[in-house]
Amino acid sequence: MTTFLAPRDIARIVAAHGLPAVLQRLAAAIEADFRRWPEFDKVARVAAHSRQGVIELMPVADRTHYSFKYVNGHPGNGAHGLPTVMAFGVLADVATGTPLLLSELTLTTALRTAATSLMAARALARPGARTMALIGNGAQAEFQVLAFHHGLGVRELRLFDVDPAATAKLLRNLRAVPGLALTVCASTAEAVRGAHIVTTITADKRNAVIIEPGMLEPGMHLNAVGGDCPGKTELHPGVLQAASVFVEYEPQTRIEGDLQQMPADFAVTELWRVLTGQARGRQRADQITVFDSVGFALEDFSALRLVQQLAAELGLGVPLELIPALADPKDLFSQLQLREQPERLVLQAA
Ligand code: NAD
Repeated sequence: MTTFLAPRDIARIVAAHGLPAVLQRLAAAIEADFRRWPEFDKVARVAAHSRQGVIELMPVADRTHYSFKYVNGHPGNGAHGLPTVMAFGVLADVATGTPLLLSELTLTTALRTAATSLMAARALARPGARTMALIGNGAQAEFQVLAFHHGLGVRELRLFDVDPAATAKLLRNLRAVPGLALTVCASTAEAVRGAHIVTTITADKRNAVIIEPGMLEPGMHLNAVGGDCPGKTELHPGVLQAASVFVEYEPQTRIEGDLQQMPADFAVTELWRVLTGQARGRQRADQITVFDSVGFALEDFSALRLVQQLAAELGLGVPLELIPALADPKDLFSQLQLREQPERLVLQAA
């Protein structure tokens, strides 16, 4: 049987362990898998574009497990009462192809994206970074804040969103977190001024210019998360020119990331090479670093394996009859239960 995990199961996992611990364990799981990067079969995700957004399939496998995620990105979905990003995914056994787990991945994507941002910032942000600007205060925002607060020691958040209701929602959700100072800013420029880390996590299907070169300050780390699809970017090309740029999987980021604006020979470094010591991350205190995040299938693979383990420990999930249970694997036909109804095997008169 396949195990099914619903959003409430992910909420129960978080309630049992606490959000900081889940984010830490996810960051550790993703980093462990990034460190064994060559062991994975990788491919850029397959995208179906429309005027309103994109629907994507994200597969990856190692020798024992295969996973895929279905995910959309529809920045106008709020008008339909729907989130911009919705997702689910499957973890399967490579030896037999059996789907082991079917899980919600909407909440889990927010968790794994924040954990991946944290993993990148640990390698790239200046030591002692304490202030972060957060541009875009929508569905992903709180997860990012808590990952950087608990995982990196960020204490001061400078918030800006073109929708003041989104920022008000974030303040309501996080006002009880001790040691976190939340400042609402009137513009991106005001939020970014003096920030050690800048996270952009906006949703708009166009080449937006959220961060301009004039906003950059020596030593800044940019965690650019919202530009994740062709024609959907957040950084002015001059920002990338001025920075050292780090990516998840280069073939995918060249198509989808802010990097899509740059020439094909513009140099970038894949993050796994930094994590394994094969490439340098931050080298100078005044260096500007960019994590051009688009979201890579391996992060969902790590997340699916972790939620499978945590759910099993807590006895969560329900068995799902996704695949027929066959006494004789060659007798699929018997599943139709037509032996006692031979008339159903004959063409019926109209
Ligand atoms: P959301 O729609 O809930 O929130 C996006 C917010 O951005 C909204 O509140 C909107 O008002 C704000 N915004 C739009 N334009 C802005 C601007 N110019 N300045 C300031 N704020 C602006 O979406 P979400 O689920 O929070 O996702 C945010 C983005 O992150 C999306 O583009 C999504 O595709 C992307 N995303 C990336 C990854 C990844 O792994 N890289 C993972 C998940 C989501």
